[in-house]
Amino acid sequence: MPELPEVETVCRSLRPHLIGKTIARTEVVETRLRIPVDEAALARLVGKTVFEIGRAAKYILISVTDDLVWVFHLGMSGKLIWLESDAPRRKHDHIVAHFAEGGELRYHDPRRFGLTIVTRREILQELPQLRLLGIDPFDADLTGDYLYRFTRSSERRIRDVLLDQQIIAGLGNIYANEILARAGIKPTRRACCLTRKQAHTIARTIPELLQQAIRWCGTSFSDYRDADDKRGEFQAHLRVYDREGRKCRKCPSLIKRVAIGNRSAFYCPSCQK
Ligand SMILES: [Zn+2]
Repeated sequence: MPELPEVETVCRSLRPHLIGKTIARTEVVETRLRIPVDEAALARLVGKTVFEIGRAAKYILISVTDDLVWVFHLGMSGKLIWLESDAPRRKHDHIVAHFAEGGELRYHDPRRFGLTIVTRREILQELPQLRLLGIDPFDADLTGDYLYRFTRSSERRIRDVLLDQQIIAGLGNIYANEILARAGIKPTRRACCLTRKQAHTIARTIPELLQQAIRWCGTSFSDYRDADDKRGEFQAHLRVYDREGRKCRKCPSLIKRVAIGNRSAFYCPSCQK
């Protein structure tokens, strides 16, 4: 599932293709995504020019002229891919935007958990999907104190606090595990047992780790690709995620896996306390 570094990589790979170009035609092949695609809303993009591509947590925001924003969430297996005009259609290419200058943007999503919405800029932050999001991991307000405050009364495991999109928006299981590995804290620790110092260590590690993952263009296990259909390379730098039974990169111990809820957590029993 694409997490923040993958979504940021997609944004970066889209910019050279889309900025300054005008949407000539939109085509909806399949409306059944996580929420049904509003074909009439998509048609409002015709004649509009893309001038900015940004991100809010894991939502991709394509800003076009006339104060419209084209929002995407990639769900589990969504991809936004740039192709030459009339490249052969593939199964699961659900939405196509044809550009006046040539070229097509396609939304491809075999599992159809993604979504796309067209909205006016002034009501963007009121969308139910965006309204409840916590702070962005790169926001300067994500401090140790912020995290410490949210953990005081929490019986939850620290890994689950990091996954809570209303506290920090954009982290998923891969990076939550990797952040804790780098911070030296076991994912199974009760959040309320965290010291203030540990909260600061985690808060500092979050943007550092994500920045590093973005430099490697994200993590590709299977589906994830950027707009040029390139894989990420951060999987080679993972310390614990999906490395059960393999040697820790820092000590002779073997990485352990434990289930928290229905998602696995991974850690080194020696390096993480
Ligand atoms: Zn270790």
